Amino acid sequence: MTMAKELHNVSELESRKVAEASREAEWRQPSFLREMFLGNFRLDLIHPYPLPAEERPEFAAFYNAIKEFIRDQVDSIEIDATGEYPEQVVDGLRKLGAFGMKIPKKYGGLGFTNVEYQRVMELFGSVDGNLSALLSAHQSIGVPQPLKLFGSDALKQKYLPRCAKGEISAFALTEAQVGSDPARLQTSAEKTPDGDYVLNGEKLWCTNGTIAKLLVVMARDPKTKKISAFVVEADWPGVKVEHRCHFMGLRALANAVISFKNVRVPAENLIGDEGKGLKIALTTLNDGRLSIPNGSVGTAKLCLEINRKWANERVQWGRPVGKHEAIAHLLTDMAATTFAMESIAKLSTEMTDRGGYDIRLEAAACKLWNSDRTWEIVDDTMQIRGGRGYETAPSLAARGEEPIAVEQMMRDYRINKIFEGSSEIMHLFMAREAVDKHLQVAGAMIDPEKAVADKIAALPSISAFYASWYPTRWLGWGQWPRYAEFGDLAGHLRFVERNTRRLSRQIFHGMIAYQGKLQNKQAFLFRLVDVANELFAMAASVSRAHAMREAGLANADNAAELADIFCRTTRRKVAKLFRDLWRNDDVRKYKVALKVLEGKHSWLEEGILSLEERKIRDLKPEARFGVADPAPVPKARTVGTN
Ligand SMILES: Cc1cc2nc3c(=O)[nH]c(=O)nc-3n(C[C@H](O)[C@H](O)[C@H](O)COP(=O)(O)OP(=O)(O)OC[C@H]3O[C@@H](n4cnc5c(N)ncnc54)[C@H](O)[C@@H]3O)c2cc1C
Repeated sequence: MTMAKELHNVSELESRKVAEASREAEWRQPSFLREMFLGNFRLDLIHPYPLPAEERPEFAAFYNAIKEFIRDQVDSIEIDATGEYPEQVVDGLRKLGAFGMKIPKKYGGLGFTNVEYQRVMELFGSVDGNLSALLSAHQSIGVPQPLKLFGSDALKQKYLPRCAKGEISAFALTEAQVGSDPARLQTSAEKTPDGDYVLNGEKLWCTNGTIAKLLVVMARDPKTKKISAFVVEADWPGVKVEHRCHFMGLRALANAVISFKNVRVPAENLIGDEGKGLKIALTTLNDGRLSIPNGSVGTAKLCLEINRKWANERVQWGRPVGKHEAIAHLLTDMAATTFAMESIAKLSTEMTDRGGYDIRLEAAACKLWNSDRTWEIVDDTMQIRGGRGYETAPSLAARGEEPIAVEQMMRDYRINKIFEGSSEIMHLFMAREAVDKHLQVAGAMIDPEKAVADKIAALPSISAFYASWYPTRWLGWGQWPRYAEFGDLAGHLRFVERNTRRLSRQIFHGMIAYQGKLQNKQAFLFRLVDVANELFAMAASVSRAHAMREAGLANADNAAELADIFCRTTRRKVAKLFRDLWRNDDVRKYKVALKVLEGKHSWLEEGILSLEERKIRDLKPEARFGVADPAPVPKARTVGTN
């Protein structure tokens, strides 16, 4: 059987095995969320909240310069309309050093901390999604990040200075059959007798792909089936941009299908160890994942400003629309949620700089929670702006109104729930870690591959662990006067404390009730993850508001007000999530879904022009890469393509 055919038949079990093998199995550093899943509310891991330190003059100078550059040179509406990155913008970013923000100084970069880098990503999140993606694909996941984490000194010496100077890089994992499931990866890296590698295959949706000079490529050894990661130069023989992909938003994204035909990769361009490519890719994403949540904070803050102004200015039915209760509540939720999003994103980012924490769960929580919440905020912004939200910015400008591009923001923002780990995959990733300790202790009992003798042998250690762990998940003081030092916010921390223990009990009860089938009970597991994320957001918000009070900051009382209203709303959400764990329609809904999949409800589709009738399948195979962009955009000043 060919590798392609073999991989087409990859079973669920094999996919899980690949994911499991590439998972970082060990927890060497403490993690707030891992502890929470075990029922331990480790406030000490996030408190005192790290308020922003005074800016280093060097960073302040860069930040001011880039802000001025954006204000004077970047026109996001034009970028969207032309569908291209203006050359002077990319050059300007290069000159400022923006492609080397995270690269250490000794390699020619600016050597910023993660906190500093993410402040810039927050700023870009309020400016333009295309530019955020350009910078983030280059240095959050592109060549600099895996090289920083896993590259040899020689590779760092060779490529980091080039990246810092502005040679754009890209990250190539996805393929036509590989979205969320890397087990299907087909691009091959065959080892030659002299130790080099020969790459063959095709990568899909590679952001920056049409303009990148350097690529991180994940490919698999056809013999061992192990996946490795390589630095590949885009102008090497056999590397070809086959197609530039176009999307609903991010119209300027330089996103490509890239093929590799007998591409010779020198042995020294292997990143890290052979066969560890997937682990490298996933670990790169762990840390790199913080760019989206920080950028989302910028987007949410811009929405808040748009809505604050519009909801005051727009008078309907005798009042500014912001003073009608329905819109007023949206404004409150938006402000409170933005405060909470910023609290978790800044906290997790600070933790990466401090070291001593394992933030893979916090980064996933930030990516998942902030992109889902920001999407709701963008949606509410469109609602509050009404027809003007739906109208394009150029059209608004043409009839003399302020060109506030909510329509573009919506198109640009939506992808954040899909790429760099979709919301579903982030839930699964977190759910796996939520049950990790239980699998370590009692996994033998629910493993169908384990013999009865093994299960019996595991019993003493299982009993020893649960005899002390389980009762203590019921004990503990989560009532007054605990956390009294937090004043009027103390009650919210007590709620988090009590519900942390409740969460861990529910995880355990789920293991008992569903055993090996738990891994397929996604609705149940996702609710548990949602509870953890809401509790994390509550604790971070309260801790931050408290720290602001302690520091005597001018807005401390305002922050406490937002933290309080956020927690009040979230407590109801958490209560509902817990209630729904055991009282729900999960099984019934799954059964109906199976019938939908089997076409038993396709009777409901009568009365439409079906996909078959639209003849979209008439496209000839050779036209695969010749499909015109549905909304062709005029070519403007473009950056060079390969
Ligand atoms: C604009 C854009 C830019 C991108 N940039 C890059 C890039 O630079 N480099 C790169 O390598 N890739 C890139 N990607 C790929 C992106 O990361 C993938 O789209 C993403 O991983 C999801 O894969 P998929 O679209 O094939 O969805 P699929 O994996 O096919 O999933 C379809 C749906 O099913 C859900 N799903 C899948 N598996 C499960 C499961 N086990 N349980 C529950 N739900 C599940 C998914 O969440 C999704 O909702 C980009 C994509 C786009 C659109």
